[in-house]
Amino acid sequence: MKHKIMVIFTAVMLLFIVSSCSQKKGNSALSSPASPKNVIMIIGDGMGPEQVGLLLTYARQAPHSVLGDKTTCFDKIMEKDGSLGISLTYAHNVLVTDSAASGSQLATGHSSGSEMIGLDYNGDPVPTVLERAIQAGKSTGLVTDTRVTDATPAAFAAHQPHRKMGDAIALDMLSLGPDVLLGGGLGNWIPREANDKNSRVRRELEEITQGSVAIKSKRRDSQNLLARARENGYGLVFNRSQLAAASGKVIGLFAASAMPNAIAVSNCLNDPDRSVPTLEEMSLKAIDILSQNDQGFFLMIEAGQIDWAAHSNDAGLMLHEMIRLNETVNAVLDWAKNREDTLIILTADHTTGGFGFSYTAKDLPRASQLPGMMFKDKDYKPGYNYGDPHVLDKLYSQKLSYGDIFDKFYQLSKEEQTPKNLAMLVNQYTAFPITIAQAQRILETEDNPIYLPDNRKLNAKRVPKLDNKDEFYPSQKFSNIHALLALAVAGDQFAVWNTGTHTNTPVLVFTKGSVRARKPFAGVIHHTQLGQYAIDAVRGK
Ligand code: MG
Ligand code: ZN
Repeated sequence: MKHKIMVIFTAVMLLFIVSSCSQKKGNSALSSPASPKNVIMIIGDGMGPEQVGLLLTYARQAPHSVLGDKTTCFDKIMEKDGSLGISLTYAHNVLVTDSAASGSQLATGHSSGSEMIGLDYNGDPVPTVLERAIQAGKSTGLVTDTRVTDATPAAFAAHQPHRKMGDAIALDMLSLGPDVLLGGGLGNWIPREANDKNSRVRRELEEITQGSVAIKSKRRDSQNLLARARENGYGLVFNRSQLAAASGKVIGLFAASAMPNAIAVSNCLNDPDRSVPTLEEMSLKAIDILSQNDQGFFLMIEAGQIDWAAHSNDAGLMLHEMIRLNETVNAVLDWAKNREDTLIILTADHTTGGFGFSYTAKDLPRASQLPGMMFKDKDYKPGYNYGDPHVLDKLYSQKLSYGDIFDKFYQLSKEEQTPKNLAMLVNQYTAFPITIAQAQRILETEDNPIYLPDNRKLNAKRVPKLDNKDEFYPSQKFSNIHALLALAVAGDQFAVWNTGTHTNTPVLVFTKGSVRARKPFAGVIHHTQLGQYAIDAVRGK
């Protein structure tokens, strides 16, 4: 009996010691801020230091900057509780990454292979930060201004061997079930029968979309993912007012494929009938819904078209895309103001285009007088033209993207597709006029220089003629003709471009949150580390 009491006593003592240890642990956890409740990762696709630099330059130096106080979201992050790091982006065994591999590395913390979605470089699925957040009881969401099944959001919620497998990616997303999914890309969610104007599914879709989105299936099968989503408890929204009214789990698809570019968005921003929500509106709605969860949330927001503007070497569009990102991030920062419980990570998946302002030997400055004593008997006359800040206002004043300008041009009849008409369109919609001779050069074509290993020509389609740089302008989607227009106005814009693809330049990593939460990101790191730190944050490590 005595022995038994001793055993019980010892057990109680042990329990007490153990519990006092854990109590102690609890106290020390209290003294340093706990791991973040919410993690918001914002990715500017293609937003390298060059693109960040363009926005900062515009904010500080444009004579009529629309940003008003000359500050940007980057300034706002660093003003208080912010850190800056730099991250290498390369994928496994290659110098340069695409968005799929980079997104996969950011989402999983594992080294990934080119064009893979949510896989390690061997091709095995690896858990993403979004999946980890679901396991941790958090709500989750993905917001993008491209397609929700496009490479960047896909990398967070799908596991597929290739980024182009939009049908399979949409199915993965549906079965994973993030609470909020907002962006473009309706085409991957509706059955191919929807393309038949007389089908029942077509009529149903016309009714629920209220005519806000073009109904055009991209699926090769008959699966209606929207019907299944509704069975899984999702609300479905297709325009701005439906989004505003949404609550709870929601899928919002606001375009057949990509959402409108940032110039098109600003052109109709104040139109009371505007039916397409902005990236800012989608992001705030996502936060509104996700923040209902006491366990917190993980949200990825992508400004996905910075990359596209850079592929097109379209500096005016790229500025507008950066302003779209800026407005979105500022709105998120306002929401997170004075919140110690939220970690915001703002970065890019890679750099695109190799952009920079550069000085020229064109239009040399005239001699002028300076009041300083060292110029008392001397003219001030620099030997080069170092660039006029007014080009920043002129870039902002662009009224159509290069893509939309050429779309208008190619909608003309064959006989009307003349250098004169191209020059007219460019000069109508941009502040950097071109001559008819320049337009003629832009319209020159040559044989497509793709050869098979045995030297047989694969495709004799005529393509725009880019001197010596064809290797770096391989894409027919971001037509090389945009780059030729960029080249024609380069001297007037003081803008140079290196490529129509991505470069390996490391990207910036801005973080905002508690000191403990943001510390790991504030170094020289690689995107696999960034991904792992984000996973640690949602797992409360
Ligand atoms: Mg992307
Ligand atoms: Zn790209």
